[in-house]
Amino acid sequence: MSVIKIVRISLMNLHEYQSRNLLKDYSIVFPMGDIGESPEEIYNIAKSYDGSVVIKAQIHSGGRGKAGGVKLCNSPEEAKEFAKGILGILGKNIITSQTDSDGVIVEKLLVTELTDIDREFYLSITIDPDFEGAVLIISSEGGMDIEKVAEETPEKIIKLPFDPIIGAKPYELRKIIRSLDLPKEANNEFIKMINNLYLAFLATDSTLIEINPLVLDKKNNLIPLDCKINIDDDSFFRQKSIFELRDKNQENPIETRAKDFDLAYVKLDQGNVGCLVNGAGLAMATMDVTTKSGCFPANFLDVGGSTDKEKIKEAFRILVSDKNVEFLLINLFAGIARADLIAEGVVEAAKETSFDLPIIVSMRGTNSERGFSILKNSDLDIHIAENLGNAAEVLSVLNKRK
Ligand code: GDP
Ligand code: MN
Repeated sequence: MSVIKIVRISLMNLHEYQSRNLLKDYSIVFPMGDIGESPEEIYNIAKSYDGSVVIKAQIHSGGRGKAGGVKLCNSPEEAKEFAKGILGILGKNIITSQTDSDGVIVEKLLVTELTDIDREFYLSITIDPDFEGAVLIISSEGGMDIEKVAEETPEKIIKLPFDPIIGAKPYELRKIIRSLDLPKEANNEFIKMINNLYLAFLATDSTLIEINPLVLDKKNNLIPLDCKINIDDDSFFRQKSIFELRDKNQENPIETRAKDFDLAYVKLDQGNVGCLVNGAGLAMATMDVTTKSGCFPANFLDVGGSTDKEKIKEAFRILVSDKNVEFLLINLFAGIARADLIAEGVVEAAKETSFDLPIIVSMRGTNSERGFSILKNSDLDIHIAENLGNAAEVLSVLNKRK
């Protein structure tokens, strides 16, 4: 059974340096550092910190350490070499365990002073559906192998729901401090940090604030070394200054296009079936059915309750621009959306893009009969399925025949 990996979900992502800036307003203090965009700048910044620095690629992805995106340097020359040189990182794409196979481009590097690490913790605040609210997630085993910790020794990860009114309860924080075996000198700083991060989480409409690693240095100072923030897309109307930080160069261009048309697009990293659906639940069912047919979705495009033909046409263009698509599966339960309008949009956009691959259609609801006849009367290679189960059979036959 293959593991489904959703490469990117549409959340407003911030770079590490932007997250650090944002958290400054909440008294979270990171090691000193500056951003550079050229080898010369990197050289000068490193020099201003006496050469002992950490350089980190600024990309919308974690896992940089393991992908060669983080480098501890001992001299400004070494720092410059890391930026440019033969293996220089600036201007290149980095592929991490969290990116797709194209990776993401490195346009900026963060250069910070070096911290002497004694212990690395994992800390994050996120929304947890089980607790129906914000939770603190913390582990004594932070750092680059946190995914492995979560998988193999989940008992080493502590979850604490925030009380919606009072936040983190002091006695619960003290319990966490004991189980992390934090030294006395760091206790107050730890409590202050959690409370400040929670304030930041609420005020910025974050869905995730992650500090990994949060470290203890040799003098028992508690220092956040990395930071990742995601912001709730729906908070756009009141977080305009944060949304101005958006870096489209880090996004998948197709997803950006979809976002601009207010369409929900998800690219999957395998599969050959483009899926046009309306509604997230139907997307899930479509996923099951496609898998049952022996194929796998290449992507999903959720047109929602759209009644705008231009939007449908754009949805079609986006779907078929994916080079992995060999079949298009249209699965609709038209309520507010109209099946005939969607069919018209599909036919027009298919003509425009000279699309000639098989289209399997399962449609129910508003104007579906008219929708079917529009599709049947087109020049397209249409395969009508009576229901979703039947769509799987059609897909399976076509897939074997190809
Ligand atoms: P990520 O791999 O994308 O999460 O990048 P991080 O910024 O978390 O860096 C990865 C790893 O580099 C950390 O887990 C640390 O082990 C190491 N690292 C980062 N900054 C420093 C530092 O100042 N000093 C030392 N000794 N190690 C660091
Ligand atoms: Mn990290």
